[in-house]
Amino acid sequence: MAKKTASAKSPKKKKLTHADMLEQLDKQHIWHPFTQMADWRKDPQIIIESGKGSTLVDTRRKTYLDGTSSLWVNVHGHRKREIDKAITVQLGKVAHSTLLGLSNVPSVQLAEKLLSVAPNGLTKVFYSDSGSTAVEIALKIAFQYWQQKGPGFQNKTGFISLTEAYHGDTIGSVSVGGIDLFHNLYRPLLFKSYKIETPYCYRCKYGLAYPECQMTCLMHAERTIQKYASVSAALIIEPLIQGAAGMLLQPPGYLKRIRQICMDNNVLLIADEVATGFGRTGTLFACEQEKVSPDIMAVAKGLTGGYLPLAATLTTEEIYQAFLGEYRDLKTFFHGHTYTGNPLACAAASANIELFKKEKTLQKLQPKIKLLSKALEVMKKFEHVGEIRQRGFMVGIELVRNRATREPYPLADAIGARVAFEARKRGLIIRPLGNVIVIMPPLSISPAELQKLVNIVIESVKVVTGSGVLAPASPAKTTPHKKK
Ligand SMILES: *Cc1c(COP(=O)(O)O)cnc(C)c1O
Repeated sequence: MAKKTASAKSPKKKKLTHADMLEQLDKQHIWHPFTQMADWRKDPQIIIESGKGSTLVDTRRKTYLDGTSSLWVNVHGHRKREIDKAITVQLGKVAHSTLLGLSNVPSVQLAEKLLSVAPNGLTKVFYSDSGSTAVEIALKIAFQYWQQKGPGFQNKTGFISLTEAYHGDTIGSVSVGGIDLFHNLYRPLLFKSYKIETPYCYRCKYGLAYPECQMTCLMHAERTIQKYASVSAALIIEPLIQGAAGMLLQPPGYLKRIRQICMDNNVLLIADEVATGFGRTGTLFACEQEKVSPDIMAVAKGLTGGYLPLAATLTTEEIYQAFLGEYRDLKTFFHGHTYTGNPLACAAASANIELFKKEKTLQKLQPKIKLLSKALEVMKKFEHVGEIRQRGFMVGIELVRNRATREPYPLADAIGARVAFEARKRGLIIRPLGNVIVIMPPLSISPAELQKLVNIVIESVKVVTGSGVLAPASPAKTTPHKKK
């Protein structure tokens, strides 16, 4: 009855569903990260309500494959029984208690577990809650270490980093970042860092090609490190692959050599494993693949299996020892975030690490890495696919306007965003990095889901770039590329 009256009053006005209402409220109240809100408010948006395994479900009951692992964090899938349970069990004890002046059970247990799987030589864990804070902590520890090491090192206050680096969005991590689109505006707020050229082989700054180049970039890196060693506390690097830069792969041996150069020049090495950690590159940590042990390591994203915000900065015994002394010596590390060592998050992280052993996650991942490469193979012939870069379960597909000249699509074309939009229509969530299509599924994805995911990406790239297959007379293959 009531319904009839309402529609009689305003026959054209459609009743808002719960989903519509939530979308309206979102657009009214939330300011989203890395998002042009004017666009956001114009376009229809997806609101996720639930998830299971590799699948997310929105408020309209539409299902999507989680092609980004919910922004590079999810490891064993959503609603993973063991992690759900670890959190609820802990919830039955205490949700939060502080690490300032006290300790708590899950944080102790996790520290031990984490160190047992971390690269050799790392013996201490400092907790925080995001990748950015883990990096800030790494930078401050490196700086303070040299200040307290004794006379002769007081000038080691700077940092060396890579030109396309991404280490987070707080001011310190932005200072060692190098993605102009995100970072340039903030220059006046930042401390200076000394840059070494990112090895971006597809667009090599030296106009060379691997392996004939014999890693000329390393020679330049060594010069820079030697030049600034006396004024640098540490070099920070994303090992093996620079994620946010567009999945840029370092040539084999690069990381190992950087480690050696740092050692020779008395510069600490900070490995930012925030994105690469917890199996993403095919090994638990990327450093393992080059048998590198950093002095300091930052982890976050996958640490809790993608459940809760938790991060950790790991250091060697030698660094830790430099902070010991009488309180009046003021060698204390005066740093701490309020939610540091949160018990719920630590319980989730312990369950995550245990699952790697119990389910042989890394072993089962290897054939899926191969399947992923194979499924992507057909795209190598596409007219607008410049390069496909893969390390384990991290993939970047760089789309180009012109394959022969490697001319990028202009920013205004929003080519990556358009591909992601097409993928959504087909039931896949991905988020591009500019012109680079990113694929980073949960490690637990099934082979069938993985194939479906790649099929949707292929279809979406075809639709957006117009033509799928490379024209037969293309001179693309042999044209040497120039710095762009
Ligand atoms: C995501 C990321 C960060 C920042 O982590 P947040 O949790 O977003 O602060 C730092 N370093 C790398 C390599 C990352 O990919």
